[in-house]
Amino acid sequence: MSGPLLKVENLTKHYPTAAGLLKKTVPVIRAVEDVSFTIEAGQTLCIVGESGCGKSTIARLLMRLVDPTAGRVLIDGTDIAGLKKHELRAWRRRMQMVFQDPFSSLNPRLTAGQIITEPVENFERLTRKQREALAADLLRKVGMSPEMMHRLPSEMSGGQRQRLGIARALALEPAVIIADEAVSALDVSVQAQILNLLMDLQQQMGIAFIFISHDLSVVEHIGDRVAVMYLGRIVELSPCEALFAKPVHPYTEALIAAAPVPDPTRARLQAPLEGEVPSPIDPPRGCAFHPRCPLAVERCSVDVPPLVPMADGRLVACHVRAPATGEPAQLALLPESLPAVG
Ligand code: ADP
Ligand code: MG
Repeated sequence: MSGPLLKVENLTKHYPTAAGLLKKTVPVIRAVEDVSFTIEAGQTLCIVGESGCGKSTIARLLMRLVDPTAGRVLIDGTDIAGLKKHELRAWRRRMQMVFQDPFSSLNPRLTAGQIITEPVENFERLTRKQREALAADLLRKVGMSPEMMHRLPSEMSGGQRQRLGIARALALEPAVIIADEAVSALDVSVQAQILNLLMDLQQQMGIAFIFISHDLSVVEHIGDRVAVMYLGRIVELSPCEALFAKPVHPYTEALIAAAPVPDPTRARLQAPLEGEVPSPIDPPRGCAFHPRCPLAVERCSVDVPPLVPMADGRLVACHVRAPATGEPAQLALLPESLPAVG
């Protein structure tokens, strides 16, 4: 077998607006614009960006819960748009999701054991003995005692419920897990435990992860690569370490500067990110970030910058920091930091 497990090509999703139903020119919500990436088996890709930038829409497109306006999703080289019903069912079996709020995504009337074995029982009948053995095994995998199988979600802590959500996602031995804001509702200490659990599971089971978070600081230690999104587009796609060591896109730099610094002795950079995220209905022309960008030049308000490869392999969409020349852009030529704003 060769080629990536998952390949996303120029994926675009526009939603119609309510106002558009009555007008001739239909305004659309540009939720996802021209997004491309690949994921190999066992890899982690983190997708980060402020709320509303299109992260969950990408997850829905990958699951084919919504159809793309343009572009395609290839799984092992096959376009999921062409999958027949049973093939789609098989794909959804290989791709599982973990959500932010396990309480609302778990049936409150079922016990933990029933919740985590239900996905398997949708495909095959289990005897009581098999069901209990499976539940015990899955609970152990996520660091919980098998006795918990008799509990209801309401009798569990937030961290335990999230472990339960992960156990349920593992039940069908997926190739890919999409974790959409999976730790965002948890206390920082519990967050770290769940992140460690996810990383351990990935190493043991070779699962590919798509880890979605609005909080860049959460992904620092878990990702192979990070895709930073702004208003539906990827603006920087980089190996994780390189991104945190030296962000190139001014938006990435601003996000890192604005993130809380866990070590109080480390100086906190001035946060240069001001203003609101513009509306995806009528996004700014050119680079959508230009109205908030301290480096913006005239061209930024005219042309959409393409994602350009840098010498270290990352991709950056910025006329100033990564001008398209046909040659990989040189990191060494970057200025040390953004000028302070405000
Ligand atoms: P994120 O997960 O990054 O917060 P989403 O993918 O949920 O962002 O949303 C991206 C944009 O698309 C937002 O402006 C959101 O309001 C809009 N959107 C998402 N789903 C729908 C939908 N079903 N109908 C209309 N607009 C939607
Ligand atoms: Mg979301």
